[in-house]
Amino acid sequence: VRAAVFDGPGLPLRIEERPEPTPGPGQVLLRVGRSGICGSDVHMTSGGLFGFPPGVVLGHEYAGEVVELGPGVEALKVGDRVAPLPGGGCGTCSDCLDGTPYFCTGVKPPMRLGGYAEYAIADESGSTLLPPQLTDADGALVEPLAVSLHGVLLSGLERGHSVVVQGAGPIAVAAVYWLRQLGAGRITVVARSRRRERFVAAVGADELVESGEDAVDSVLAAVGRRPDIVVEAAGYPGTISDAIKIVKPRGTVVVLGNLTEPDTFEPWTALLKQVRLQFAIVYGMREFQQTVATLAAGATEPRAMVTSTVSFSELPTVFESLRDTNDECKVLIDPALR
Ligand SMILES: [Zn+2]
Ligand SMILES: [Zn+2]
Repeated sequence: VRAAVFDGPGLPLRIEERPEPTPGPGQVLLRVGRSGICGSDVHMTSGGLFGFPPGVVLGHEYAGEVVELGPGVEALKVGDRVAPLPGGGCGTCSDCLDGTPYFCTGVKPPMRLGGYAEYAIADESGSTLLPPQLTDADGALVEPLAVSLHGVLLSGLERGHSVVVQGAGPIAVAAVYWLRQLGAGRITVVARSRRRERFVAAVGADELVESGEDAVDSVLAAVGRRPDIVVEAAGYPGTISDAIKIVKPRGTVVVLGNLTEPDTFEPWTALLKQVRLQFAIVYGMREFQQTVATLAAGATEPRAMVTSTVSFSELPTVFESLRDTNDECKVLIDPALR
């Protein structure tokens, strides 16, 4: 079984033959059809305090076909195609039973990776069935879409709310998609450049504003009035501070961005406006199921996010190229490509 192994910061991924994993009780073995490269994979292999340990096989955005059932699996059968939560919790605590195993404290680490491989393990309880009209590539987009859905659901969005989204990477694009699907009014994206304008436009953004010298001034000049909600999906130092300045009094800032260094903002500015600051991470089964149902109903605009599909032999080079400014949005791995 071929897998892409992370050996440590500064080293390219290495393709290695590994033994085929065996599904345990309640688990299935998947033949991975597509696996997405996440910005956090690139970020967390750059070194620093929050990095992945050497020897790990990355990949938490994947979908594939069930090829083997572990003991006790009843609902899934061989040949089913699923998008799994990259999670393995204890299975018995309230968070696991609630479909949010990421928050399980009974099993560490909270996330099982392993999607950068020909075969991967999934929990039956964490697997969402893909209907025939959805491809494995759609299935690999379910995870990042579910991340943003979770953030949008936590935002308190109501029909017609105006929203500013900071950033134009995949999580920002996915946030725009859900905001449009769930009835937002004007959606303005603020980004450092127009490189990803076509992706946010494809999922329903009304405009993209370049952040320029001062992102707050640039946005407010373009939008005219303060938005009800700001979705922070850029993850740069200073974006939370900007979001607090941009949002309307008693508005909500949702933070989805992955920033692993200290950052500052002015509590006084947030206090005067009584801003609600809501952090959001991952998802549960509900978000996975809502994502699959929405895609299956024909709202497949997120397919525009996929800019490249690469083989294992191309993966190490492509992965390193994503560390620099690039024109990709979502790169998928197809393990069957030679
Ligand atoms: Zn991800
Ligand atoms: Zn648990």
